[in-house]
Amino acid sequence: MAYDLVVIGSGPGGYVCAVKAAQLGLKVAVVEKRATYGGTCLNIGCIPSKALLHASEMYSHAAHGMDSLGIEGLAPKLNLAKMLGHKDATVKSNVDGVAFLFKKNKIDGFQGTGKVLGAGKVAVTSDKGEEQVLETKAIVIATGSDVAGIPGVKVDFDEKVIVSSTGAIALEKVPENLIVVGGGVIGLELGSVWMRLGSKVTVVEYLDTILGGMDGEVSKQFQRMLAKQGMDIRVGAKVTGVEKTKSGAKVTFEPVKGGEATTLEANVVLVATGRRPYTDGLGLAEAGVALDNRGRVEIDGHFQTNVPGIYALGDVVRGPMLAHKAEDEGVALAEILAGQAGHVNYDVIPSVVYTQPEVASVGKTEEELKAAGVAYKVGKFPFSANGRARAMLATDGFVKILADKETDRVLGGHIVGFGAGEMIHEITVLMEFGGSAEDLGRTCHAHPTMSEAVKEAALGAFFKPIHM
Ligand SMILES: Cc1cc2nc3c(=O)[nH]c(=O)nc-3n(C[C@H](O)[C@H](O)[C@H](O)COP(=O)(O)OP(=O)(O)OC[C@H]3O[C@@H](n4cnc5c(N)ncnc54)[C@H](O)[C@@H]3O)c2cc1C
Repeated sequence: MAYDLVVIGSGPGGYVCAVKAAQLGLKVAVVEKRATYGGTCLNIGCIPSKALLHASEMYSHAAHGMDSLGIEGLAPKLNLAKMLGHKDATVKSNVDGVAFLFKKNKIDGFQGTGKVLGAGKVAVTSDKGEEQVLETKAIVIATGSDVAGIPGVKVDFDEKVIVSSTGAIALEKVPENLIVVGGGVIGLELGSVWMRLGSKVTVVEYLDTILGGMDGEVSKQFQRMLAKQGMDIRVGAKVTGVEKTKSGAKVTFEPVKGGEATTLEANVVLVATGRRPYTDGLGLAEAGVALDNRGRVEIDGHFQTNVPGIYALGDVVRGPMLAHKAEDEGVALAEILAGQAGHVNYDVIPSVVYTQPEVASVGKTEEELKAAGVAYKVGKFPFSANGRARAMLATDGFVKILADKETDRVLGGHIVGFGAGEMIHEITVLMEFGGSAEDLGRTCHAHPTMSEAVKEAALGAFFKPIHM
């Protein structure tokens, strides 16, 4: 049977594109080499990590956080196997959900490795080695990303002692010591999980700051908060070796600016230095599909590669490696393939770090505005002046709104604090509609809520906050 669309990869980019295309009347097939749908995000990424972040946070609260609320004497006992079971059950219900969506939308699923034979043809090879060729009007490459190592350093991942994020969500024992190489989102989230469960965690980061690329003020404050929680963070440190030892592994690093090397030992080392676009075995070179100098599939403004009829989206193309960016691209591309006008606004893509407290951001950072020579104004409001935050003992952190000095249009929003990942969306919607700090500051917010701090920060950018 000939398809309108064959999608290779069933992560958030691929499955959402398939569902949307089917909803718009296209005949769709999805090829997935993993045993379950949902890609990195649902199987080994966003979803399992959030299940563990939530469970470990509850544990940590019960163990340390309730005395000041008058709840004393809690002595929680960790059942790690059960916690991992909760994570696995969460993954299962999510990947089953994608299978249900495929069935509901009459999408044909093919389990096997997809290879592009050229425009209009995809070969699928099953685990048993059986091959079939699917014919289609359009091909979407949505093969995502894979773990990247450390440039210039040989890392032998065994996923038990030297682990990637995949091993770090499945450790069978809480390591006494954990070294995390890379102070980005994934390293800090998974480092937090094991720290809450009892590990002594050391983070080694190449840049001068953790969460490189985030607003500088936010990442500085966040680093202080993590240090207060007990995380040992070494910035400006270049890792030169990761090796197994008799009792675990050791990491050697030296100051980026030059100086003496340090070697630390731990039971487990998590290498979380980023991800690379995944195009292995796809046959792109033979099919003439061009990659850029970072190995990403090159696309135009309509997601089309240099070969007509072959498209790509998600982690395998340019832009932030985020599930919701991939999803929005999936929707836009399906609309384009169905003859509609699909579009993604790359200026308004939120990003969230699901630690405690959370960090969330959308739009430009102060550093980016400065570098671009944009005249801007800043409104900031601390949670320590917010009634609900005081009631919840969640006063750490602040909201920061950046607005154009002339027009008052909101250009960026940054939050570090409890619930930041939910609160960021009101700034996101406002920015999508081209709203101003005054619009946000004059919008009635329910009292008492953490979100009132967003309103107050906007008031601060526009004129003055009331409660400070
Ligand atoms: C630990 C971790 C936590 C994360 N947390 C978050 C988060 O909280 N929020 C967020 O936004 N992002 C998060 N991410 C990133 C997110 O997972 C990715 O941005 C997202 O999965 C990208 O979606 P995708 O569809 O492009 O690719 P993927 O989800 O990587 O899916 C690609 C799929 O293609 C399949 N595939 C590859 N090659 C072939 C082939 N030749 N034939 C058939 N199938 C193939 C793969 O098996 C895979 O299932 C996290 C990532 C990790 C690792």
